[in-house]
Amino acid sequence: MTAAVLWAEADRCIIRRMATLSGAVTGTRTRWRALVLAGALGWSCLQTAGLVAQPGVQYDVLIRDGQVFDGTGTPPVTTSIAVRDGRIVAVGALPNARATTVIDATGRYVTPGFVDVHSHAGEGLSGALNHGQPVLAQGITTVVVNPDGGGPVDIAGQRATYEKRGIGPNAALFVPHGSIRREVLGMADRAPTAAELDRMLALTRAGMKAGAVGLSSGPYYAPGSYAKTDELIALAKVAAEVGGVYSSHIRDESDYTIGLVAAVEEVITVAEKGGLTGIVTHMKALGTGTWGASAEAVKRIEAARARGVSVLADQYPYEASGTSITGALVPRWAQVLGDDAMIRRAKGDERPRLLADVKTNIARRGGPATLMIARFAPDPSLEGQNLDQIAKLWNKSPEEAALDLLVQGGASLVSFNMTDNDIDHIMKQSWTMTSTDGGLGPMGVGKPHPRGYGAFPRKLRLYVRERRVVDWPFAIRSMTSLPATVFGLKDRGVIREGAWADIVVINPAEVADKATYTDPHQLSVGIDTIIVNGKIARLAGKFAPALSGRVLTIER
Ligand SMILES: [Zn+2]
Repeated sequence: MTAAVLWAEADRCIIRRMATLSGAVTGTRTRWRALVLAGALGWSCLQTAGLVAQPGVQYDVLIRDGQVFDGTGTPPVTTSIAVRDGRIVAVGALPNARATTVIDATGRYVTPGFVDVHSHAGEGLSGALNHGQPVLAQGITTVVVNPDGGGPVDIAGQRATYEKRGIGPNAALFVPHGSIRREVLGMADRAPTAAELDRMLALTRAGMKAGAVGLSSGPYYAPGSYAKTDELIALAKVAAEVGGVYSSHIRDESDYTIGLVAAVEEVITVAEKGGLTGIVTHMKALGTGTWGASAEAVKRIEAARARGVSVLADQYPYEASGTSITGALVPRWAQVLGDDAMIRRAKGDERPRLLADVKTNIARRGGPATLMIARFAPDPSLEGQNLDQIAKLWNKSPEEAALDLLVQGGASLVSFNMTDNDIDHIMKQSWTMTSTDGGLGPMGVGKPHPRGYGAFPRKLRLYVRERRVVDWPFAIRSMTSLPATVFGLKDRGVIREGAWADIVVINPAEVADKATYTDPHQLSVGIDTIIVNGKIARLAGKFAPALSGRVLTIER
């Protein structure tokens, strides 16, 4: 590097540190203190930049000469990063630095570790899959679990399990509205009594107190769908008391009930009246009748933000969603009072009415050929086949075949129902974060949606490198500083001195998803070095056995 480059780096370093310390230099002796501080900072910045000799410093990890994206959306700077005791302690040329592990990042992108704001890995992380390799291989160093209103009611217990057994990536936890409602009201389609609402509020408060980062809801699914907006606002207010957010699988992403735009408006209402940030999670326009409606939905969010309501979205970069026969095709009236009641309806007098509704829902999602069976435990040979093929195999109508699958235990589905126009438009918004919506299951079982293995690298490969829908700094910000700020994950999602050392090293030419719809159990490639809380989680493609993840709580 030339001297001019090093001086510029020393300048940046001084400005950065002065900004961090500006709060410390107030009062009558401001000028004296500022001068003293500037002198001290200046000298250490000259050392960091390598303009004056630095005593040989020993670090845990040193990442040399990478193109460093700080996560805030600015272009990369070629520099080095030193890590000690879990934190980034120096960013600069660092010519005299020594470290236990030295990583040559020449020609690589170095970014903050990614934050997945909608992850179904929660259950996998509490068991034998706690290392989370398919998650880490995507560059994800933090997952936010219990989305869609689902997951355990006992947040303290979930946290204790993670802390006792250890987890590969960091985890932040939602309090799930749907599970709380089921705990208190079962699968009843009615409003809670005052006493029942009090119990729901108490469970929400207990979860937030145990360290949750917000409330998740799924008013699309039963029993969340039996809740009116005022119930969601009441629980959201409890999350707001401690700075939590509200993330919702909205009531309708399509044209099932109230429609996409009204469902987005419901999130805005909860955010506004609840006094907290609202997130339209895995935002999409689902089904032929709703294609193009992302334009109006985006406008509504923009209008809310313009009047000061904090509303954002997240998105996974696929044209197919993943759900179950029940979630996608069975109407909510048929789920009242639970699974046994639903099966009775599917076999009894209400079968004709149910068949008619299932037929409508198959058409709404694009027809039977767009619905692929992901997991069907009673007969795995059907996995990977679509509903049209199964109907022909069984010599039945698609709606009859769907109800047969349901009666035999239900199946999970991959549902092809989105268009590039809507996906691109949502991705380009400055308030859209990145998510997987992926689970963490045993490798080789079923044909799960590939997003659990590939969502983040897919966005970098297909939407950044190949199609150029968004650029690198913008995409990386949507995966790092934006979610960290929204969720109150202090000193995360950024590369700067003092931040936690969650760092990934990316090969920009090779980063890619390998998981496909028909062959989903494939780890992503191109992110071979991953650091979680200052510890190596993966080095040169080899996973370390360490479980360095922590449960992250709100710190603003
Ligand atoms: Zn969802």
